[in-house]
Amino acid sequence: MEYNYQSPWFIEALQKEKELKVNQLDLNLNTDICIIGGGFTGLWTAIKIKEKKPESNIIIIEKDLCGSGASGRNGGCMIPQSTKFQGIKKIVGLNDAKKIVVSTEAAVNNIKDFCVQNNIDAQIRDDGVLYGATNKFHKGAFESLIKDLKENGINSWERLSKEKVQLLTGSKKFVDGYFSPIGGSLQPALLVRGLKKTAENKGVKIFEKSAAISYNGTEEIIVKTKKGSVNCKKLIIAMNAWTPTLLPFLSRSVILVSSDMIITETIKDKLQDLGLNNGLVILDSNLFTHYCRTTPDGKIILGKGGNTFSFRNKVINSFDGPSTIEKFLKKSFKGFYPSLSKVKITKSWNGPSERTKTGFPFFGYHPNNQNISYAFGYSGNGVLTTYVGGEILSSMALDEKNEWTKSNFCKGPIKLFPPEPFRWLGAILIRNAVRRKEKYQEQDKNPLWIDSLLAKVAVSVGRVDFNNKKNKV
Ligand SMILES: Cc1cc2nc3c(=O)[nH]c(=O)nc-3n(C[C@H](O)[C@H](O)[C@H](O)COP(=O)(O)OP(=O)(O)OC[C@H]3O[C@@H](n4cnc5c(N)ncnc54)[C@H](O)[C@@H]3O)c2cc1C
Repeated sequence: MEYNYQSPWFIEALQKEKELKVNQLDLNLNTDICIIGGGFTGLWTAIKIKEKKPESNIIIIEKDLCGSGASGRNGGCMIPQSTKFQGIKKIVGLNDAKKIVVSTEAAVNNIKDFCVQNNIDAQIRDDGVLYGATNKFHKGAFESLIKDLKENGINSWERLSKEKVQLLTGSKKFVDGYFSPIGGSLQPALLVRGLKKTAENKGVKIFEKSAAISYNGTEEIIVKTKKGSVNCKKLIIAMNAWTPTLLPFLSRSVILVSSDMIITETIKDKLQDLGLNNGLVILDSNLFTHYCRTTPDGKIILGKGGNTFSFRNKVINSFDGPSTIEKFLKKSFKGFYPSLSKVKITKSWNGPSERTKTGFPFFGYHPNNQNISYAFGYSGNGVLTTYVGGEILSSMALDEKNEWTKSNFCKGPIKLFPPEPFRWLGAILIRNAVRRKEKYQEQDKNPLWIDSLLAKVAVSVGRVDFNNKKNKV
């Protein structure tokens, strides 16, 4: 079977499947619920619906193979929404902000338990998350956040000494940092392919290599593929980066930008020497964060978001190829781990990540048809949040009136980006300002005021405002 340039995770997951059986849709079928998109969101949603209402007939149609999108190629870093708490609270209010923090934290154990129960070996290692400061400007960045989380009884972060941060990360580049035990890493493609199998075992019909090319959104919903169609009562759009192709009214709600990664050869002993022997996720404090973790078989990955912006949010070909910033990533890697500078980088890759203006996802109904619902905008933080997304979309599709469906997360996009070409030009301008600012800060120099000003516009799509004076001690 041929597939596009893919992540090592996806290749490993397909190789582990004894036989790759692809069912293509070449019939006209009727069903209760049709889901377009076979990534984490689509599959968790189908599984949740089956758990709540086992008699539901569900069809998933996937344009390529399940997991071939972001779900099978991401960093596998399980990072809850807690670091975005203050930003989320300002926009959706305290209750909803607490709910997303608590539920994304709970997702770590929920996913782990689900994998045990369903025999999915997704190499889950819940050894926590560490945010480290690499320069004086980023020191003490979580203080106000921790105070706020504590006041609300939901804090899991603690500040560590410089020595402890360096010990846990194996990198002398860090000068300060914060650790939370809630989080860790997993092999994303093994998870998503495992979800596919579990969904099928629960009776969900899955058709791959069957792209939805159009749908009729009136009372009777009919989704068409090249060779077949699905007539359904409820339609769920779980297409992530591709969402605007079927829901163009959402095109101004995100910016599509690559997240890029490199992986090394197996260097178990060298990682052991650095003290890197578990699934800890290590992040730096840049706006477009470097993320880093090891694999159980002794490799290390380094990634970074916020690189190639696509014009008109088109899913461009380069998203399905090697990273265009491979050189830059290699340089960063050497910066974090000079002792590994001779280690071979065996592969680079990237993928589209949809960033909302708020930095968190939204859910909604088609403006002309409440029987069509969607999720969009995980903003590079979807491994845990898509689990919650599945809970939310399943509630929407089953017409449940609960805390999620009544929440501000389910009211569609909250803020919009300007139309093209201003969105793309603005994004490049701001990305370059952020890069210059962070380069200055790495050299312990004060950034130019104009770069600091422009970078502020981008803060919402990052994790914490590391330069907010209120966040410092
Ligand atoms: C390189 C990269 C690294 C990342 N790293 C992390 C990380 O470490 N931690 C983290 O929390 N998040 C990370 N993310 C984000 C995370 O991967 C996503 O938020 C999450 O996978 C989204 O899942 P999804 O199911 O919504 O989307 P996807 O997995 O993209 O699924 C959408 C599916 O829809 C299908 N589709 C598209 N069009 C059609 C059509 N017309 N018909 C049928 N099917 C269609 C696609 O083929 C795809 O399989 C990363 C993202 C990228 C790109």
